[in-house]
Amino acid sequence: MLNDPRSHGLWERTAPPAAPTRRLSEPVSADVVVVGAGYTGCSAALHLAEGGARVVVLEGAEIGFGGSGRNVGLVNAGLWTMPDDLPGVLGPVHGERLLDLLGNAPRLVFDLVAAHGIDCELETAGTLHCGVGESGARELAERARQWQARGAPVELLDAARTQAMVGSPAYDAALLDHRAGTIQPLAYVRGLARAAQDAGAAIFTASPVTAFRREGARWRVETPEGSVTADWIVVATNAYTSAPWPGIREEIVHLPYFNIATQPLSSNLARSILPGRQGAWDTKEVLSSFRFDRAGRLVVGSVGALRGSGTAIHRRWARRSLQRLFPQLGAIEFEAEWYGQIGMTADSVPRFHRLDANVVSFSGYNGRGIAPGTVFGRTLAQHILGQLSEDELPLPVTLPVPQRLRGLRETYYEVGAQIAHLSSRL
Ligand SMILES: Cc1cc2nc3c(=O)[nH]c(=O)nc-3n(C[C@H](O)[C@H](O)[C@H](O)COP(=O)(O)OP(=O)(O)OC[C@H]3O[C@@H](n4cnc5c(N)ncnc54)[C@H](O)[C@@H]3O)c2cc1C
Repeated sequence: MLNDPRSHGLWERTAPPAAPTRRLSEPVSADVVVVGAGYTGCSAALHLAEGGARVVVLEGAEIGFGGSGRNVGLVNAGLWTMPDDLPGVLGPVHGERLLDLLGNAPRLVFDLVAAHGIDCELETAGTLHCGVGESGARELAERARQWQARGAPVELLDAARTQAMVGSPAYDAALLDHRAGTIQPLAYVRGLARAAQDAGAAIFTASPVTAFRREGARWRVETPEGSVTADWIVVATNAYTSAPWPGIREEIVHLPYFNIATQPLSSNLARSILPGRQGAWDTKEVLSSFRFDRAGRLVVGSVGALRGSGTAIHRRWARRSLQRLFPQLGAIEFEAEWYGQIGMTADSVPRFHRLDANVVSFSGYNGRGIAPGTVFGRTLAQHILGQLSEDELPLPVTLPVPQRLRGLRETYYEVGAQIAHLSSRL
């Protein structure tokens, strides 16, 4: 996107084209203006339009330009935080509400894909969280115990079953989450955007919001060549926020994450790895992930940015790691590589902000935003349509709080990933 093959890589090459959009070049009026066309913004627009609201979406670049077009495509359930710990972080009411909402969030993604006929390589066979060493296996056993106590369909696999499902003896255990799945992420967000347009939302791209101000009882947001006057503003800019809501970016630390895709594997090789087509990731501190796309390319990812010295270091690590995990691959040819920035909050929990009267936002998904973004977009729509009061929201109402030493921590993540990948074999 924007002539950068490392921004969206494979996903841009294989996603169906986005529906036509244009730049906003006139003043328009709406009930709600949504800023940002990722999962959060497009889901909000779809559900608002279906609820009868007049909606305008303003996207600074293209549909899916942010995390939504670059990610791994693991449609996860729940959060990083252990289920039993969440009520301690958010209080019992919001903690239980958020666990319930995000535990079931993949279902909404699958239902929307079916309802709108979105062609996005959906696989609903679950995900495998793979345990490295005894401590990894212990963590997964505890996670399984806590989810099972809540009735969630998750299974703890021993080393032998993990080897059979992954196609590698590298792991001591795995958590198979039957609620989860994988998608082609850019195809999914383009499909959501098309569904929103079909429901009546107007989407403008290459239209960054540069300012907003009161106009009587309404809001007016400005783009370089146009403006929208509306009763509500949904700020869905998350980790890719540019002006005029810097607070959302300031409370997030950017964690870079890259993906590298092999050429399509022969059918024999492809059958020997992840034969059930689950998406997988591991319990390492500098975690890595792997999954197939529909054409049989293996996509491997980990923490790091493909720029400067990082490009060669991470590429070499990806080759070594795949060869160690799956020696049957032999010589590996890569076909695409890309990276993006994950938005991390201080406590790994997302945020709901009321930035001003009728200016609302969800952000900070900590690398798990496909299902949460989709669900939070619907939550925003329900709130604005008067179907969900502020007391019924899944998160407390807050204002952004900047994270301290943000720049330093972002440099630490980028350089630390290079150091880890210089020596790591797995
Ligand atoms: C490399 C990577 C791997 C990931 N892997 C996974 C995964 O496997 N599973 C998972 O669930 N999540 C994953 N995530 C996280 C997930 O991609 C994000 O949480 C999710 O895409 C966030 O969606 P969003 O709509 O809130 O924000 P985004 O998709 O980031 O969209 C924000 C949009 O706002 C636009 N914007 C910003 N400022 C303005 C402005 N002033 N005016 C107009 N538009 C503006 C941006 O251009 C952008 O398009 C990953 C993220 C990355 C980067």
